[in-house]
Amino acid sequence: MRYQSTRGAAPTLGFRDVTLTGLAADGGLYVPESWPAFSTDDIAALRGLSYVETAIRVMAPFVGEDLTEEELRALCTRAYGRFAHAAVTPLVQLDERNWLLELFHGPTLAFKDVALQLLGRFFEKFLTGTDTHLTIVGATSGDTGSAAIDAVAGRTGVDIFMLHPKGRVSDVQRRQMTTVLAPNVHNIAIEGSFDDAQALVKAMFNDPAFSARFRLSAVNSINWARLMAQVVYYFYAAVRLGAPERKVAFSVPTGNFGDVFAGYVAAKMGLPVEKLIVATNVNDILHRALSSGDYSTGTVTPTAAPSMDIQVSSNFERLLFDLAGRDGNAMAGQMRGFESSRAMRLTNAQREGAAALFASDRVEPGHMNEAMRWAASEAGNVIDPHTAIGLAAARRVDLDPAVPVVTLATAHPAKFPDAVERATGSRAPLPGRVGDLFERQERYDVLPGTYAAVTEYIAERAVPKA
Ligand SMILES: *Cc1c(COP(=O)(O)O)cnc(C)c1O
Repeated sequence: MRYQSTRGAAPTLGFRDVTLTGLAADGGLYVPESWPAFSTDDIAALRGLSYVETAIRVMAPFVGEDLTEEELRALCTRAYGRFAHAAVTPLVQLDERNWLLELFHGPTLAFKDVALQLLGRFFEKFLTGTDTHLTIVGATSGDTGSAAIDAVAGRTGVDIFMLHPKGRVSDVQRRQMTTVLAPNVHNIAIEGSFDDAQALVKAMFNDPAFSARFRLSAVNSINWARLMAQVVYYFYAAVRLGAPERKVAFSVPTGNFGDVFAGYVAAKMGLPVEKLIVATNVNDILHRALSSGDYSTGTVTPTAAPSMDIQVSSNFERLLFDLAGRDGNAMAGQMRGFESSRAMRLTNAQREGAAALFASDRVEPGHMNEAMRWAASEAGNVIDPHTAIGLAAARRVDLDPAVPVVTLATAHPAKFPDAVERATGSRAPLPGRVGDLFERQERYDVLPGTYAAVTEYIAERAVPKA
């Protein structure tokens, strides 16, 4: 399998290199040159397989020759062995039609663990015994930082520098990052906002002198391997609900369009997906794009579902590219226009292609709270605010009532205890596996939010290019 850039001007890469590279050199994102096709027999053969065995079958065509089946099995077994549920991503039934796919049984209680636990192991596998050393730099408003740190802590060949806005992440989120004391983990609290932290990271990637000294890498969802790992649970859930004979719909609380793009990939591979429901909060650029073709940014409104508070959804470019004949030149032009005016119209081909598979909804805070209350009182299930946005959209969508609708439960409710309590009146306790989080020692440094302070700090600690 080879990977091509959505903007058509970067070299094609194999799986190993696409995993170690973030953005393509032309500013685009890597996608497979073609979608592997699963026949109905291939899908039927997934019945009864464990999560790990399902993962190996679904990912094998993307990995190609870069890992043997045994190597892939060993990495998946270790990554998913850290999950607290034997089914890794269990399905829970809410009513006759609605299901939750619980993706939060990993070490940091959010769905990002499913992909990042594996990505950390891919990095180590591909770097051990080489003279390449990765310097991962990221900014986080909470979930990505803790999942990425847990995934690479103590691994060979990588250092991680994670910037968070000082005093502006929850105590649980901060402690999940700062109590990891491995020597390759560097937590930096920036005096400033999340946007300031993110701007500092972008400036490092765009600084030729700095990126000449260190092999910088990213762990956000522009990384193809993360999306690939997420395709697995769409197959795992749909097969349990009757695929390939029966179609299944998915409702996905969406921010950067990574999780729901993985659902699109599953459909392209042959999984019978009736609809993918893109659920947004009031930061609704994706709902506007899918319902009226208007992809234009505004200002971010902070909400109780902070992992969905975004202005620009990086992975949307992958969908637009695939829907419009995979024309890298045209895509580069469309994105250049967007980057200068912060707005673009989808083409007719893009709108029609998207309408065939996607529905979308913008969920107001009142509907989100109502979904949390409904899940608690009618189904005995406490859900987090992100999941509630997905569930609210799932319950409103107009679909054939015989089609099961699976809402992706992207975070454990204990990660957002205040919002859960406001809606339902009760607090979700932290699960036992993270129970002593508040007794553990923390380690992080506070830096002013200036480029000089942050780059000097990293340069003193990172391993330079060989
Ligand atoms: C990251 C995140 C999302 C959004 O996922 P995308 O892949 O960016 O669309 C939704 N919910 C939670 C809890 C998250 O951490």
